[in-house]
Amino acid sequence: MDFDYGPEVEAFRAEVRDWLEANLPAGQEDSIRETFAGDERDTFMRDWEAKLRDAGYIGIAWPKEYGGRGLSTLELLVFNEEMVKARAPQRLNFFGEGLVGPTIMQWGTEDQKKEFLPKILSGEHVWCQGFSEPNAGSDLASLATKAELDGDEWVITGQKVWTTVAQYANWCFVLARTDPEAKKHEGISYLLVPMDQPGIEVRPLKQMTGDSEFNEVFFDEARCPAENVIGGVNNGWKVAMTTLGFERGGSVTTSYLRFSRELRRVIEIAQKFGKTKDPLVRQDLASHFTEVEIMRYSGYRTLTSVLAGKPPGPESSISKLYWSEYHQRVLKTMMDIRGLDGEIIEGEGYELDQFQYAYLFGRSEVIYAGTSQIQRNIIGERVLGLPREPKPEKSLSS
Ligand SMILES: Cc1cc2nc3c(=O)[nH]c(=O)nc-3n(C[C@H](O)[C@H](O)[C@H](O)COP(=O)(O)OP(=O)(O)OC[C@H]3O[C@@H](n4cnc5c(N)ncnc54)[C@H](O)[C@@H]3O)c2cc1C
Repeated sequence: MDFDYGPEVEAFRAEVRDWLEANLPAGQEDSIRETFAGDERDTFMRDWEAKLRDAGYIGIAWPKEYGGRGLSTLELLVFNEEMVKARAPQRLNFFGEGLVGPTIMQWGTEDQKKEFLPKILSGEHVWCQGFSEPNAGSDLASLATKAELDGDEWVITGQKVWTTVAQYANWCFVLARTDPEAKKHEGISYLLVPMDQPGIEVRPLKQMTGDSEFNEVFFDEARCPAENVIGGVNNGWKVAMTTLGFERGGSVTTSYLRFSRELRRVIEIAQKFGKTKDPLVRQDLASHFTEVEIMRYSGYRTLTSVLAGKPPGPESSISKLYWSEYHQRVLKTMMDIRGLDGEIIEGEGYELDQFQYAYLFGRSEVIYAGTSQIQRNIIGERVLGLPREPKPEKSLSS
């Protein structure tokens, strides 16, 4: 890995830094929860998305022919680094630009690329991910939502759950069973479905953080055009694995920046509570420092293969497993340091401070994008080549 990005890329970094300085509200924290509350937060997210778009910072590394800026992966990395350093908020259309867009680029037909990619970049289409169901999470291939062809349309019936940002999205990439007779991995298709139609109902779910970030989504004979299948009918499993690779591997090169800044804050909290002389706290903080450094170098290794043009493969499970479990450990250290103070919610209503929020939200990080147990199975079987886990025995009654 060459750590010198070169003058052109560094000039781009300076441009991004100046722009962020001029456009990001002062006092911005990693989580916009600190800066804005409730509806203000939603408005800010939409305005922020539009500002980024107008400045040419959406689709930085996408080809120009699909509306992108045509810059290199390194420039995209530098942009992401500067966003993290400036504490810019997470993106509203992450599922569009980060997941379904790259998936369409890899599996879509030329017509599909021309139709969908520019609309992701323009913000006309905001996406959510319709994979998980009440009885199909880790065992995603057991999904029961079905789609049947009716003339030139798919008719979709079933239920998705944990669908993040579905309340804002106007499009959903949906996994649906299109051949009930086929083996479970082989009868699934990857459909692009408009959300704004009578057959779709979105019901927000309240989380323990107080936010309703994810939703239940009900499909009752919802429709999408027959040509909105990505990667071919009944080939959706392979396409979904591409999307999950992007989801699990997306932040590997920048997460250490976020975590090292957060760790500095944890150390400040330890100082404030007079805990920096406590040998057990010191030991925990030193371990966390080492863990963040491991993340940094493993990020560089991933970056090397990304720059060599390799799409994220099963190796992305290593980083997902590592950062999500690290995050729970460091947030537990932080709560231990704060003691009872960590449990007090100040002010009116249920507005958590940044670390209380992170501690509670951190419980979900070892679940979404595949649980830790599932990441370990993937690493064992597909990275290390260990024997596959045995299939569950049939129940006595069957
Ligand atoms: C904050 C958040 C946001 C999410 N956003 C989305 C979204 O936008 N779109 C979407 O489609 N989904 C989303 N999800 C769903 C997420 O992908 C699933 O929750 C996850 O895949 C686990 O599925 P499950 O909840 O059904 O748990 P289950 O699969 O029922 O798992 C229960 C437990 O059993 C363990 N387990 C299951 N199978 C095995 C096995 N074979 N070996 C060992 N252990 C096993 C699991 O690790 C877990 O501990 C989100 C989840 C969260 C928490």
